[in-house]
Amino acid sequence: HTSMVESEEECNVTVAVRVRPLNSKERGEGSTIKTDQDGVVTVETSDGSTLSYQYEHCFGPDATQMEVFRDLVHPLLTKALEGYNACLFSYGQTGSGKTFSMMGIEAVDGCKMGREAGIIPRFGFSLFEKINRGKLKVSIEVSYFEIYNEKIRDLLSDDLGPSLRHQAKPTLRVREHPQDGPYVENLTVQSVSSFDSLQGWLRLGLSRRATAASAMNDKSSRSHSIFTITLTQGPKRSKVHLVDLAGSERLVNTCATGDRLREGVRINTSLLTLGKVINALADKTKKSFVPYRDSMLTWILSVSTVHKFISLVGNF
Ligand code: ADP
Ligand code: MG
Repeated sequence: HTSMVESEEECNVTVAVRVRPLNSKERGEGSTIKTDQDGVVTVETSDGSTLSYQYEHCFGPDATQMEVFRDLVHPLLTKALEGYNACLFSYGQTGSGKTFSMMGIEAVDGCKMGREAGIIPRFGFSLFEKINRGKLKVSIEVSYFEIYNEKIRDLLSDDLGPSLRHQAKPTLRVREHPQDGPYVENLTVQSVSSFDSLQGWLRLGLSRRATAASAMNDKSSRSHSIFTITLTQGPKRSKVHLVDLAGSERLVNTCATGDRLREGVRINTSLLTLGKVINALADKTKKSFVPYRDSMLTWILSVSTVHKFISLVGNF
């Protein structure tokens, strides 16, 4: 990871780590995690060994949602308004704080902008603040979908209630546009003219996701959700993908059987491919082949890496 962040100018991939507060079980286990201002994370295990990692940013248990947004996400918003495509993932095991970082706590009763609001609502809020303050001529559209078992489900289509009927909807396909590259065919795109309407769509998608998740054992930890904001300024068009990834524990799930195995293998593919894509993009010699097409997730998101600006939130 150190080499990935050595040169800020040249590097297209930013890796940040956020360490959430330990829960009571973890506190009893005797290991500690320390973070410092320079992006170094030090893990001391209960047997006394020490491991150190260097990232571009690291956020400790006391870091606020506002600080994460200010240091990591706001630069991405600036880039997006300049016309760059961008993509931000939260990666980590289930329970490590991915959804907390992306949505925040209010996500549970609707994502209000409050102290605990996460990256997505903050991004939307700041975006409209900048547009209104600068009287910018930018039109904004959003879409929201999830990838589960390498299948794409629209979370914003008009003809669905916030119910299980969502489950019965046919899944969408990825197509390749000769100029614009891959896109999700027939994906609902909603025009938004204020933070409130953006937030409304975010809540609706989230509620559909939650309904499906409780009906299907543990689904939310196995699916990737992608909230996309498209900014159009005259002829210039940029996309920002904000992605809450499936739990990374699936990567090491080797003893699954049956359906679980099938799911495990597929999710492995998306996460493994994402790892390969990021490594290839971080390769300074630029000679690596980037295997975008090897998974649904990386295929769709490859458009955003044309401009090679990726940011990633990792969580332990
Ligand atoms: P994940 O989406 O990775 O499975 P969650 O975001 O659901 O994990 O987080 C698991 C639990 O930890 C939740 O109860 C969440 O509120 C809490 N949590 C996560 N990150 C933080 C944090 N930085 N500060 C306080 N609580 C957190
Ligand atoms: Mg989650």
